[in-house]
Amino acid sequence: MWVLVLVSLPLIVVTFFSRKLLPIITWVVFLAVVLFCNPSHQDFRFDMTIKRISRHRNWPSTFDMPEGHYHEPLSETELVDFLKHNARSLRVMGGMESYSPLIHSATVLNIKHLNRVKHYNGSHIRCEAGMTIKEVQDYLANYRQSLRGIGTYLDTTLGGAFSTSFSGRFQTSFSDHVTWARTLNAVGTSIEWIDDLFYLRDSMGMLGIVVEMELQVFPNRDYEIFYKQRDIGWTEPADGFQMNTHLYASQGEAATYRLLPGPPEFVNRQGSYWVMSEIYDFIYTPISYFIPIHWIGQPDARQTIRQLSTNDVPYFGLTYLNYRIPVEFCKAFLNEMEDQDGLVRVKYLPPKQACLAHHQSVCEVEIHIPNHKYIIQYESLVRKYGGYSHWGGYYEGNITKQIESFDCYVEFEKLRKKHDPTGRFLNNYLKGVPGAQYYWRSAGRVYVYCIVLALFVIVTIFSYWKQHITVCGRGRTLRKFKT
Ligand SMILES: Cc1cc2nc3c(=O)[nH]c(=O)nc-3n(C[C@H](O)[C@H](O)[C@H](O)COP(=O)(O)OP(=O)(O)OC[C@H]3O[C@@H](n4cnc5c(N)ncnc54)[C@H](O)[C@@H]3O)c2cc1C
Repeated sequence: MWVLVLVSLPLIVVTFFSRKLLPIITWVVFLAVVLFCNPSHQDFRFDMTIKRISRHRNWPSTFDMPEGHYHEPLSETELVDFLKHNARSLRVMGGMESYSPLIHSATVLNIKHLNRVKHYNGSHIRCEAGMTIKEVQDYLANYRQSLRGIGTYLDTTLGGAFSTSFSGRFQTSFSDHVTWARTLNAVGTSIEWIDDLFYLRDSMGMLGIVVEMELQVFPNRDYEIFYKQRDIGWTEPADGFQMNTHLYASQGEAATYRLLPGPPEFVNRQGSYWVMSEIYDFIYTPISYFIPIHWIGQPDARQTIRQLSTNDVPYFGLTYLNYRIPVEFCKAFLNEMEDQDGLVRVKYLPPKQACLAHHQSVCEVEIHIPNHKYIIQYESLVRKYGGYSHWGGYYEGNITKQIESFDCYVEFEKLRKKHDPTGRFLNNYLKGVPGAQYYWRSAGRVYVYCIVLALFVIVTIFSYWKQHITVCGRGRTLRKFKT
């Protein structure tokens, strides 16, 4: 956006010197709208890539938090005290990156001060669960080691990644690599998880507050990438796979990753795409909300920054849907989805050892769309093909129906009641209370933005054109403009 501001600076200066009221007002209104009414977010900050963890709004700006009680325990002892000495319902926040209102609660605990590495032995690392993935990766970088199954944004916390369906483009999920965990139950008692990890993985904090976990670590690896146009639904063993396509296509550009034996020469973990996000927020999203523009250019899977884990282009303005579909139905599912503009990413994941996850190979269909009108249809299609939605993805229906659809649900529920008999770790969304989705819809902002933009373009062109005629009509002698 700053590039756009710099480019338009001469135009703004000329307008203000012209002292013509209408173009000046048009510019002021336009700049105010761009500043305070980002059509794709509630958040009006320019650079959406800036890390911002706020307790008032989740990271992707899909919902606001209710006013209430916010607590940052400085130690585990303080956290235990808090659990013991009040009976409030509460949710624990991680990086607040989930699109679904998993954290929506009047009482929120932020365990960011539980952020120490407890033990590292070359093959495993034991950490407190309030650490971010970036903090752990920075620690491991000293030993040329890395976590696996990590996603795009490294500000995700260990507790948050472990409790949702977090994964990256390599064919493994984050919680697959957790070998031990410790939680606090509803009354602050410490519980260790080894054999029962099957239930704790991807459980959205319903079984207790994860305070510590042990993770496998892996040597840093360089990798080779092969790019090819492939049919949607293509599968072949690979270390990592990502196809970028759209809902109108039957093919996409696929990047296949193969890990190499040696460590990489150069690892850059965080790319900067700040101009991209503004283009998506202010140009692509508002236009593609109304008319399909995918034909202008197909998204490119090629990326130049080398990174062991993953890197990504942030399509911030677009809603993040993420479905896991049994691999044999991947193509049928995509073909049956209602077409609309947006980016579709297809990845593959093997079966998982987790109750609330896939127990067969799945294709992960990640959809970033500006327009929300088909989401309920997509969700019933996911059910039809035996899939489920990423717990942190945008979900409009009643999420308890999805939770109950897992075969192990009865045992899961027994365990949940054992550790939390009063349901204090549930919020209305996880209880399936009707209307508990609290989602923000972008339509109003898109309309305001498009109307203001259209008026701005018309008035600006008209006034400069008139100005040009006047200048030309006076034999190119510059005229002093009056209001
Ligand atoms: C721009 C963007 C890109 C994304 N890219 C990816 C991607 O590449 N791959 C992917 O899989 N997902 C992705 N996501 C989704 C998101 O990162 C995941 O949902 C992630 O797991 C959320 O982690 P978090 O730390 O932000 O947790 P939060 O969203 O804060 O919390 C998630 C859940 O975990 C629970 N929780 C958090 N900490 C604890 C704890 N200590 N104990 C018990 N429960 C806890 C919370 O109560 C909540 O139920 C992306 C999101 C955004 C905004």
